[in-house]
Amino acid sequence: MNPEPAPVPAAVRPCFPALERGTVEVLQVNLGRLCNQACRHCHVDSSPARSGPGDNAGPELLEEILALLEAWPALRTLDLTGGAPELNPGFRRLVRAARGLGRTVLVRHNLTIQEEPGQEDLPAFFAGQGVVLFCSLPCYLPENVDLQRGRGVFEKSLRALRRLNEAGFGRGDGGRELHLVYNPLGPSLPPPQERLEEDYREALRSRYGITFDRLITITNQPIHRFREDLERQDRLEDYYRLLEENFNAATLPHVMCRGQLSVRWDGRLYDCDFNLVQDLPLRDRGGRPLALTDLLERDPRSLEGLPIAVARHCFACTAGAGSSCGGSLVEGGA
Ligand code: SF4
Ligand code: SF4
Repeated sequence: MNPEPAPVPAAVRPCFPALERGTVEVLQVNLGRLCNQACRHCHVDSSPARSGPGDNAGPELLEEILALLEAWPALRTLDLTGGAPELNPGFRRLVRAARGLGRTVLVRHNLTIQEEPGQEDLPAFFAGQGVVLFCSLPCYLPENVDLQRGRGVFEKSLRALRRLNEAGFGRGDGGRELHLVYNPLGPSLPPPQERLEEDYREALRSRYGITFDRLITITNQPIHRFREDLERQDRLEDYYRLLEENFNAATLPHVMCRGQLSVRWDGRLYDCDFNLVQDLPLRDRGGRPLALTDLLERDPRSLEGLPIAVARHCFACTAGAGSSCGGSLVEGGA
C-alpha cells in the first residue's frame, strides 16, 4: 500500500506569479445563482433554491451593463453566465440589446433549461439572435453525466442538443455556433482537447446523430462544491499538488483574466468568475474594490496594468494545457 502523501506546509507552497490586466475586450456577466440544476462540481453553488434578489441581478444592473457596452466600444463580447442565465427575467432583453449594439453574445447554456416552463422556444430565440452557445456535456456516456449533473440530465441534454441542431446550431454555420464543454469527473487534468474532441464528435454523431462545432476542456477549480467533495475524500491537497506540479508558464500570457472583466449579480467587479465566487475583488490603484458604476465615467485604458487578484486556485488555469472559459490555452494536455 502507498503511504499517504504528507500535507504541504504553507511556508513551502509555491506562489502563483503576479499578473497584470491587459486590454479588456470581454465583459462576462454572472446574472445570478438561480439554476434548474444543482451539479456536484458547480463552482458558483447554484441551485433552484437560489432565487432571491441577493443572488440574482436586477433590472438596474442590466441597464448599467448596456450603458457600459455603449460607452466602451472596445468591449466586443458579452459573455452571459450564471446559474442558468436564461432564468433571469431580463435575459432576453439584454441579449437583444447587446446584439443590437453589434456585440458578440456568448451564452453559457446548460441545455436542460430548455425543458423548464416558458423556455421551450430558446433554440429559436438563440438562432434569431445569432448567439454563440457553450453547453456543458462532461461526457458522452450517460452514467458519467448523470453522476456529475443529476439523474436524467444526459437524456435531457441529448434532446436539447437535437433541438439546437434542428435550429441550425452546431452544423458549421458561423452564425450559429454550438460548442460543448468538458470538465473531468474527478481530481484529474483534462485530456488533450483536440483528441477528446475527436472522440466526442464520433460518439455523438454515430450513437445519437448529434453534431457540434468545437469541444472545449476546462479544469475543475478547487473551490465551492468541488472543493467540498475533495475535502470529504481527503484529496484536496493531492489535487493542489497535481495542479502545481503541472504548472505551465507558457499558459500565463493567455489566462482569461488578462482580457476580461467579470461582473457579479450585485454589480461588483472581479478578474474572473472564479474570483467572483470567492469574493476576491478587482481593485483600483488605491486598493478600493471596483463596481460596474465606477467604469461608466472611465477610459477602458485606465484598467490596463492593474494587478489581478491571484491565489492558489489560479494553478487550475495554468496546469498542463491551461484552462479558461474558452477551453485550453496552449496545445497539448495531460
Ligand atoms: S448547470 Fe452550471 S450553474 Fe447550474 S448547477 Fe450545474 S454547473 Fe452550476
Ligand atoms: S483563477 Fe481567475 S484570476 Fe486566477 S489565473 Fe484563472 S482567470 Fe486568472
